Amino acid sequence: MSATSSASRNVPFIDLSPMHGPLKAAIVDDLTRLVDTGAFINGPEVAQFETDFAAYCSTTHCVGVASGLDALRLALLAGGIEPGDEVILPANTFAATIEAVVQARATPVLVDASVTDYNIDVDAATDAVSERTRFILPVHLYGQLADMRRLQAVCKASGIGLIEDACQAHGAMRDGLRAGAGGLAAAFSFYPAKNLGAFGDAGALVTNDSAFAARVRALREHGQLEKYRHEFEGYTARLDTVQAVVLLHKLPLLDSWNEARRAARAFYDEALEGVGDLIPPPTAPRSLPVWHLYVTRTHHRDALGDFLAARSISTGRHYPEPIHLSSAFSHLGYSEGTFPVSEALASELISLPIFPGITEQQMTLVAEGIRDFFEHG
Ligand SMILES: *Cc1c(COP(=O)(O)O)cnc(C)c1O
Repeated sequence: MSATSSASRNVPFIDLSPMHGPLKAAIVDDLTRLVDTGAFINGPEVAQFETDFAAYCSTTHCVGVASGLDALRLALLAGGIEPGDEVILPANTFAATIEAVVQARATPVLVDASVTDYNIDVDAATDAVSERTRFILPVHLYGQLADMRRLQAVCKASGIGLIEDACQAHGAMRDGLRAGAGGLAAAFSFYPAKNLGAFGDAGALVTNDSAFAARVRALREHGQLEKYRHEFEGYTARLDTVQAVVLLHKLPLLDSWNEARRAARAFYDEALEGVGDLIPPPTAPRSLPVWHLYVTRTHHRDALGDFLAARSISTGRHYPEPIHLSSAFSHLGYSEGTFPVSEALASELISLPIFPGITEQQMTLVAEGIRDFFEHG
């Protein structure tokens, strides 16, 4: 077999080059201009991107920050969180969600995921509300919104706030609500592999509350409301101009990229229908996900992943260890068996390659590999 044909049989988990290829020359031009102007911090592109991304999310304000974790942490701080306040979040999430809560000196209260969307179980979240609950922090995992309409009702009835972890859901919708527009604030990550990715770490927070946005603006820049007047203790958590330049080029294409992810999802669903014990990713009613990940469920997850790896097909596991059983958060005292849905997902989900520009040939190789595993593996 020639080197070229063996390379073409290898399916990466993610390939950013189909997105970046057509944009590269224009981005490099703008970056060259930025080197000349030297406006690396708070350059005009930062404000321009904030305006555009707020409009994209149907919110009135966007504040660019340095990462998704910064967006979550600054949202909690700007929301007035105090030590001892409780924040309810799902056990099935990426570590950054709980890191933000702990770093804001609040107390995380984990609840299980729902099998209907793998997101926070709203009944469990409702039961977890106490006198000390300050926020519910749902995560729109894998690109699908949590049940925001029900969460809004729960928060309103109990007088608590709603902050969204929308780091995997840029552009997703559910029940007519857009990711980022359903609570006090929402956090986005522009880590390169996210649906909208920068050329490094970057993030943003969106909100409809102008006083809240002003507090976040101060927090991201050493607590300054104006230069060298420090209102409170802040951080170095700005969005770089370099990243804003990149994001401005990419944002206009985000909807078409999300559409390509939905088409890839449909392709896999059809190609894998009835294969083995696979359960495709669930879609809630009236939901328009953006499939950051295609997570399929099987009791043979690890063997399947190894089988595909032997054919140079990369897969992922999101996430192999539920938060409550990780060493980092063992001090919270949760034991195995506490969140059965999250624990089952952690051992059964396998993520298939999905990205804008993935070819039918690549997806066919993945699907054939999976069929072979279940038929002869
Ligand atoms: C990526 C991600 C984050 C944090 O993003 P960073 O930019 O890496 O800090 C937070 N929550 C979820 C669910 C994510 O996927």
